Amino acid sequence: MTTDSDPLAHLMPTYKRAEEVFVRGEGCYLYTETGEKYLDCVAGIATNALGHVHPKLVAALKDQADKLWHTSNMFRIPAQEKLADQLCAHSFADLVFFNNSGTEAVETALKMARKYHAANGQPERIDIITFQGAFHGRTYGAVNAGGNPAYVEGFGPRMPGFIHLPFGDHEALKAAIGPTTAAIFIEPVQGEGGARAVPDQCLRGLRELCDEHGLLLIYDEVQCGMGRTGKLWAYEWSGAAPDIMTTAKALGGGFPVGACLSTRAAGEHMIPGTHGTTFGGNPLAMAVAGAAFEEISKPETLAHTQKMSNYLTQQLEGLKQRHPDIIEEVRGKGLLMGLKLKPNNREFMRLARQNQLLIAGGGDNLVRLLPPLIVTETELSEAIEKLDATCVAAKDLVEA
Ligand SMILES: *Cc1c(COP(=O)(O)O)cnc(C)c1O
Repeated sequence: MTTDSDPLAHLMPTYKRAEEVFVRGEGCYLYTETGEKYLDCVAGIATNALGHVHPKLVAALKDQADKLWHTSNMFRIPAQEKLADQLCAHSFADLVFFNNSGTEAVETALKMARKYHAANGQPERIDIITFQGAFHGRTYGAVNAGGNPAYVEGFGPRMPGFIHLPFGDHEALKAAIGPTTAAIFIEPVQGEGGARAVPDQCLRGLRELCDEHGLLLIYDEVQCGMGRTGKLWAYEWSGAAPDIMTTAKALGGGFPVGACLSTRAAGEHMIPGTHGTTFGGNPLAMAVAGAAFEEISKPETLAHTQKMSNYLTQQLEGLKQRHPDIIEEVRGKGLLMGLKLKPNNREFMRLARQNQLLIAGGGDNLVRLLPPLIVTETELSEAIEKLDATCVAAKDLVEA
């Protein structure tokens, strides 16, 4: 039965949705049914990296839709082979497994890390070290890896094999490593947990520590990868390559697709029968992801992202100086920027929507700006103007 009064009546109440209904998108803008225009600095949560309805993605989708959608991984999928070649040519990796989402790529990574040690005669090595503020997705394995109490409570026993450490506590990390440790798992730039960039020297330190103890280093680049920081992969800034890495969100430019990348040594034990997926890497997903990769991996796209990131960071610092009563801290990297707020972040997001600006929330009372990588300086200035107006409106929240 449907009810006229509540259009959400039959949706599980997992989301507190905004009231606006978007029916059309173009570049960095979304439009409601009544034609109201919103500047989109959410981009489907760092997913629509090329903006909405990018002509090349639309063409790839339409073209493939007329040919072949799905065959399963029982058969060769040439576009999957090509994208795997490209991902490997543009990263540390030798092997790729395609999934439908970020959290599935994380599952693949976790299974692979344990399999690696089991196949190398050390099945006792099952413990994965993760860090406070991490977000790795919503499957049972991924919420246990992330360790956020709000995401694991009520879902039965915690899974064994995950060790959660404070962010940036080097001594705690050294003390936690033992004979049952399998891997260190980290987002080079934390996304939903708080837009925190891990310093480059820390990633290099993790690489050394992993080498010293025979551990695998796993990066979760589901949010910070695929150009988001102005390099194709966030880890490139540090030069410290992982053994395994997850990607998703921007990988399909809005089409659901994820991937787990690895070195040959880390992935070669994932032989027939160990792992699988029905939909992962199907022809439709690969057509769009292939087109997205061509665009995002272009040096011009990455250079543009860096330029926009420098501009945005500088503008956000100015905003903070103008509104010290509202903004506590500016953080993040590239076009994954966070503002730690004094007033409630959800209320602030609502006020921003009243100024026709869409921004995302985040842990630690954060709002995140995740505009498409193709955003222009004019659009970013518009975002700053709208944020200025939102900060003025938010003064009432602080005083109330
Ligand atoms: C979004 C996200 C995930 C989960 O991806 P889904 O596609 O939502 O399953 C995992 N890790 C990170 C870092 C993310 O930002």
